[in-house]
Amino acid sequence: MDQTTAADFAPWNDLAQKIAFALWAIAVLIVIGHIIKLSITTDAKAKYDYINRSEIKTLWIAAIILIIGCCFYGNANVTELNLLWIVVRGFLTFAMGMIGALIIQNLLKFYYPFYIEKRLKVLRYMPRISPKTGKAMKLLSEEEEDAYLDEGMQAEENVFSIDYDVWKDEETGYVKIEKYSGHLHALQCPECNYQTFKVVREEITKIATPTEEGELVKHFLCGYCGYKAKKTVTLRISQKYEESSAATA
Ligand SMILES: [Zn+2]
Repeated sequence: MDQTTAADFAPWNDLAQKIAFALWAIAVLIVIGHIIKLSITTDAKAKYDYINRSEIKTLWIAAIILIIGCCFYGNANVTELNLLWIVVRGFLTFAMGMIGALIIQNLLKFYYPFYIEKRLKVLRYMPRISPKTGKAMKLLSEEEEDAYLDEGMQAEENVFSIDYDVWKDEETGYVKIEKYSGHLHALQCPECNYQTFKVVREEITKIATPTEEGELVKHFLCGYCGYKAKKTVTLRISQKYEESSAATA
């Protein structure tokens, strides 16, 4: 009664293959688009922000599309179909797709950040070129830079895990200030060594007064192993601070 032949599935097989190729093409285009965007972003800070904000997300989206394409491709060879086959194919496709997605997610989450980190470091400390003279500017030290940061910026540096880099053109006095956020940027976890250790919360436990030092506690959490740590930072009214006391579990 329900006799079907391989030829009956030809239109589906053909369509599934076309969908797979289209999805793969989209995934490749997304990656190419990312590479083009990177290559046309010449400003080191803009490139830093773009990589920090978008690279992993972009690759993840491309990977998902690629995997869905694989799921279609894996089902472009249907020769017989009944309830059992539908269940088996459905289950296999779902399982393989999930395994593929999990592997890529883990690579992107735990290994890829090392590679990103290396490139970000290079971008952050790459000498900035002065638009006035076309020569390399100098990155000021923590002490030197305070003269160029207003009070709000200095307070932010202390309280919000934000770093300002100040680049100065010594010849003309031209200054370029760049902002880096600790919340967006993961450190290496002291427990598992993955690049997944981030500030999740900050609280001022003691407000600084002109005569007494204040205290700020930064709470870190590892996104991989769940290791937690606190770091106490001393706040002085002069806004100079020292990081003290080691991490505690
Ligand atoms: Zn960890």
